[in-house]
Amino acid sequence: METGPCSLRVSLRLSRSPLRVIGFRITTISQAPIATSTQACFDDLGLGEPLLKALREKGYSHPSPIQEQAIPAVIKGRDVMAAAQTGTGKTAGFTLPLLERLRHGRRATRRQVRVLVLTPTRELAAQVLENVRAYSLHLPLRSDVVFGGVKINPQIARLQDGVDVLVATPGRLLDLHHQRMVLFDRLESLVLDEADRMLDMGFIHDIRKLIRLLPEQRQTLLFSATFSPPIRKLATGLLHQPLQIQVAPENQTARSVDQVVHPCDMKRKPDLLSHLIRSGGWQQVLVFSRTKHGANRVAERLSKEGLAAAAIHGNKSQGARTRALQGFKQGDVRVLVATDIAARGIDIQQLPHVVNLDLPNVAEDYVHRIGRTGRAGETGHAISLVAAEEALLLQAIERLTGEPLRQEPVKGFEPTVLSAPPLDLSGGRRKHNNSSRRRPGPVSNRRSSPSSSRQRRR
Ligand code: AMP
Repeated sequence: METGPCSLRVSLRLSRSPLRVIGFRITTISQAPIATSTQACFDDLGLGEPLLKALREKGYSHPSPIQEQAIPAVIKGRDVMAAAQTGTGKTAGFTLPLLERLRHGRRATRRQVRVLVLTPTRELAAQVLENVRAYSLHLPLRSDVVFGGVKINPQIARLQDGVDVLVATPGRLLDLHHQRMVLFDRLESLVLDEADRMLDMGFIHDIRKLIRLLPEQRQTLLFSATFSPPIRKLATGLLHQPLQIQVAPENQTARSVDQVVHPCDMKRKPDLLSHLIRSGGWQQVLVFSRTKHGANRVAERLSKEGLAAAAIHGNKSQGARTRALQGFKQGDVRVLVATDIAARGIDIQQLPHVVNLDLPNVAEDYVHRIGRTGRAGETGHAISLVAAEEALLLQAIERLTGEPLRQEPVKGFEPTVLSAPPLDLSGGRRKHNNSSRRRPGPVSNRRSSPSSSRQRRR
């Protein structure tokens, strides 16, 4: 990461191709690592000294492409709709300009909220708050977070005096509003962060309910990994002539991630995982498991073998999740095994290795998963252990990302099963009929039907 002074103004090297999509103007920016894609300076974006000071202290010298686009527009009060994955600097992209706006206005008092950031998960909510607090270090603004799974009373107490920035998950926020413990009468801006994931997780009704409670005169910012049709539908009527920003072509994976598939038998995956961690000397690896039980099993097994491992998923208490994540960040936990939902919001800089112990049921989740590595300019490694049963899932991913994944069998773990029926992803609801089972060919040369990209979610 560059840390030198930003004294030289050089014209931007962004490729701007204005397109018109559903009546909005789109600015397409080619994806590049944070802070190195442009010579623009934070000083030129309209941020005041307290924020610039916080950025200097964090060692940020240049804005990322999304920050360069979003910051001036948000400061001016524009609505923004941005397609940006985690790892692009999107959080600072909305937090910095909103703090700049807030610092000039009247502080929140009794139970009022001035900026509301909605996130799909508790982990992401906590992560966003951490960012807000870091950037507002030199501002007299209050920020806080509320989410479910923990006691509500301490949250009620903290909201009493009002907060300038509140980060929240939708369900708990509705509860608090229902009890009249939070007021939206002075709300100035709403941010929907990882909106695609909120829709995937079934929060659409809660979101719509919440939006009805907010003042109509407000600024709205929507961040999503992709501009999928449901996201565009949500945006219609919610955003007013938004600036659209797209920092990576839709559904393309980050370029600084080296991706490889190790074909192997299903039952040998835990052995192969353990072998890869040991032989590669990997010190911090995030492993994705399709199921909570699978995550537990693998974490227990690795721990028994002397590799410090922990599992993180929806059945774990908030305390256990926070401890596991903390341990992973500090390096006490070498292997964190997570399900997709639990992994949302995990922000660890320079996470070097992400392993797909199982391929995700939904191809889009592959993009989210590997977005955890190769961050902030570092090259990351995304390793997928793929059994013959997952051939259709692999094809769906390759179709989505538009690139075939490199396949490298690992010596001693070469697959013996080359053809197998696809996995039953119905959670046992679908009865197998042996005579009609599809028998796809080897992992490398199968073709699947278009509908397989969205096999049923657990
Ligand atoms: P995000 O996409 O918001 O999850 O941010 C990804 C990571 O990049 C976070 O750890 C940020 O702290 C870091 N980051 C954000 N903006 C910058 C910047 N301009 N320069 C360096 N690092 C940054």
